[in-house]
Amino acid sequence: MNLPDNHTERLERARLSLEGLAIGDAFGEMLAYQGASARERVERGLMAGPWFYTDDTAMALGVFEVLRLRGSIDPNELALQFAERFRREPERGYGTMARVILRRILAGESWQRAAGSAFGGTGSMGNGAAMRVAPLGAYFAEDLDTCLRAEAVLSAGVTHAHREGISGAIAIATAAAMAWRLRGMPKAQAAIELLQTVYDRTPDGETRIGIARAQKLPFFTAPAIAARVLGNGSAVTAPDTVPFVLWSAAKHLDDYREALIDTVIADGDCDTNCAMVGGIVALYAGRESIPEDWQAARERFDWEEKP
Ligand SMILES: [Mg+2]
Repeated sequence: MNLPDNHTERLERARLSLEGLAIGDAFGEMLAYQGASARERVERGLMAGPWFYTDDTAMALGVFEVLRLRGSIDPNELALQFAERFRREPERGYGTMARVILRRILAGESWQRAAGSAFGGTGSMGNGAAMRVAPLGAYFAEDLDTCLRAEAVLSAGVTHAHREGISGAIAIATAAAMAWRLRGMPKAQAAIELLQTVYDRTPDGETRIGIARAQKLPFFTAPAIAARVLGNGSAVTAPDTVPFVLWSAAKHLDDYREALIDTVIADGDCDTNCAMVGGIVALYAGRESIPEDWQAARERFDWEEKP
């Protein structure tokens, strides 16, 4: 197995994205459907923790682990990672179809069959492949023109056979890679470039049409209005989730705290929306942009020391 020369450096930034994702996930879960009071609650100070993460982070941990071990996505290994984490902790808030697919993999069925037969054979177009992929985008940030897209596709296919489910993963992985690559650029310019690059590299379809709509929506638009135009994940599909997430991440690329507040205010699939935004914004804004008390409150991953 060939790990890239700068494997440690790549993992380091995948880890930053993973932490941004996990904090976003827990934040979104805590404040879900309390958009109206979210800002006030944050300003008063959120609870000390642990802030428990959900399925979004559990699956992102699976992606991270495969990259740590292999330096690329082996879908068989990834399917085992997902299935094993689901077996150990089934109550992390997995969606109905994810539960069906993971149970079938645990029962010995191939991921190809399990993922391919979802929704009567069309495959899932849910936002689940996108929600876990930001750390992968970080890991392959310098491979935007070579293998990033192929790796994102491999990571998605284990559970999402529908092309929209896969497009969502390509879009979010590209956004994460761009957030890292654009760090030196002023925010306003970086936001425009990020959205354009994601649009250019997302396959044709509904998700891509939504991204074009996000590019045209001014950043001064209120989150609730933006959600009405772009979707907010209420339908838990990629086209209903990814355009709004990209818009919200681009809008607040340099401010992790503000990014999450504005994202949760839009309601919808709050934990997943915030997980994706957090996994992207952390890469541009850096760890220092994540409030220290939030970092301390985050539930530790199974391989981390408990505080
Ligand atoms: Mg979740």
